[in-house]
Amino acid sequence: MTLPLEHLAAPAPDGSFSGIWPITARRVDGELTIGGVTASDLVAQFGSPLYVIDEADMRARAGAWKAAIDESFGELAGGEVYYAGKAFLSVAVARWMGELGLCIDTCSEGELRTALAAGVPGAKIGLHGNNKSRAEIELALEAGVGHVVVDSLAELALVEAVAGERNQTAPIVLRVTTGIHAGGHEYISTAHEDQKFGLSISTGGALRAAEEALAAPHLELVGLHSHIGSQILTLDAFTEAAKAILDLRAQIAATYDVAVPEIDFGGGYAIRYTVLDDVPPSAVTYAAALAGAVTTHVTETGLAAPKVSIEPGRSIAGPAGITIYTVGTIKSVELDDGSRRYVSVDGGMSDNVRPALYGADYTATLASREPLDENVRSRVVGKHCESGDIVVKDVALTASL
Ligand SMILES: *Cc1c(COP(=O)(O)O)cnc(C)c1O
Repeated sequence: MTLPLEHLAAPAPDGSFSGIWPITARRVDGELTIGGVTASDLVAQFGSPLYVIDEADMRARAGAWKAAIDESFGELAGGEVYYAGKAFLSVAVARWMGELGLCIDTCSEGELRTALAAGVPGAKIGLHGNNKSRAEIELALEAGVGHVVVDSLAELALVEAVAGERNQTAPIVLRVTTGIHAGGHEYISTAHEDQKFGLSISTGGALRAAEEALAAPHLELVGLHSHIGSQILTLDAFTEAAKAILDLRAQIAATYDVAVPEIDFGGGYAIRYTVLDDVPPSAVTYAAALAGAVTTHVTETGLAAPKVSIEPGRSIAGPAGITIYTVGTIKSVELDDGSRRYVSVDGGMSDNVRPALYGADYTATLASREPLDENVRSRVVGKHCESGDIVVKDVALTASL
């Protein structure tokens, strides 16, 4: 008998991200299957803990983003979707993204080499990072990346120097901070003043960087970039940040008579981790909000429309992936308001640091058979010698594990 997983929801054609479980997740005779393969067969073959990515789900999400951007920006100057590789990158994933017409954002030599190993053309790869090494910049220029996202004035000088030595012109995008504070947790907010990323618009640092980039003989200023954080549910934060960066484009045009050709609005689009989370806006809704900001900018300034990029990461990879663990020690602790069962698994913060790092929440289910018994208040924990080594802080799991 095939049963849908509880709360299973596939992405709708408009790219609604209501799903928590991958789209091919099913219970077949009680057991979890992904892409038609049972959890126990996967563990028998590969061991656990095991990351499993549902290719159909990930392709559907990537395709939904691409379609939404094509539709919203088709009548402006078009757009690109960069998959933010830090959400999950392997050679196969990079290949899927390339096949679907997406570009790839990388932020280390390893990610860059992974994308190149998948056959993604250099022109469809971006290099990010707040502290790129000279070797990373050299590799990026050698591969002919579409752009290097420059994070500081010091880096601007370094990219200019490396490009000059190589007798090349480096296409660069300036990462600017708009001052918009958004996102789920301070550690995943990236556009307020007191954090490590980017060139500040408000202090004039961004404008100065634009001036230096325009004057540099081996740099071509192809774009402006803003990534305000992760897991942002409200459209307002995106449209405010979009307005700030588009205003900077207008200011650069007024000051230096250059209409910077591309604007990259970054990533951060929300997904659901648990059934308690709000259903986030769809790709179409996010893209339309950004297109509205661009249309206003074009109307108000009379400048040519910029080409637009976005960088979704988790909203492509997150719900497509699950981790399978094997349960070991189980024990209960008595609390004032009842008991809590601690379910220890064979991984933890070593395969997923996010709960410990910034309180990321997840859900869990018994995979190997139907969870028929009543649920018990549970905490899924890892095997490492830290009490913060938590996989899922609060989850109702069947009594008979
Ligand atoms: C993390 C990151 C992203 C992706 O963020 P998501 O929340 O996974 O969409 C995109 N761009 C940059 C620069 C990032 O650091």
